[in-house]
Amino acid sequence: MDSSQNQDSYDDMLGAIQAFHDKHDFKGTGGEDLPYRVALMAEELGEISSAITKGKSTEQLAEECADLMILVMGTAIAADFDLKQSFWKKMDKLMKRESKMINGKIRVSEFRDVN
Ligand SMILES: [Mg+2]
Repeated sequence: MDSSQNQDSYDDMLGAIQAFHDKHDFKGTGGEDLPYRVALMAEELGEISSAITKGKSTEQLAEECADLMILVMGTAIAADFDLKQSFWKKMDKLMKRESKMINGKIRVSEFRDVN
């Protein structure tokens, strides 16, 4: 990271991802194509899964999570939406939801279905 970047700033994180997209011209080369990005996100989710199921280090798990986060934030750039705003809006919704124990694990949902 360069000295002008603030690690705690969402805008600086997004700016770094924008610079990464610009460096490789993702916009002009299919890198911002949404179905392609879904495939890349699925691939990273698979890597997170193997980091866990194959008992890899927390550092490796963290790196794969960062890969997915960079893709998710880059998808906000590609699809032109404000992910920070969506995040807080959704957190607000989630905090108002009820939780239930289902098969021994907690689930937070709207629980619209009766079962
Ligand atoms: Mg990865």
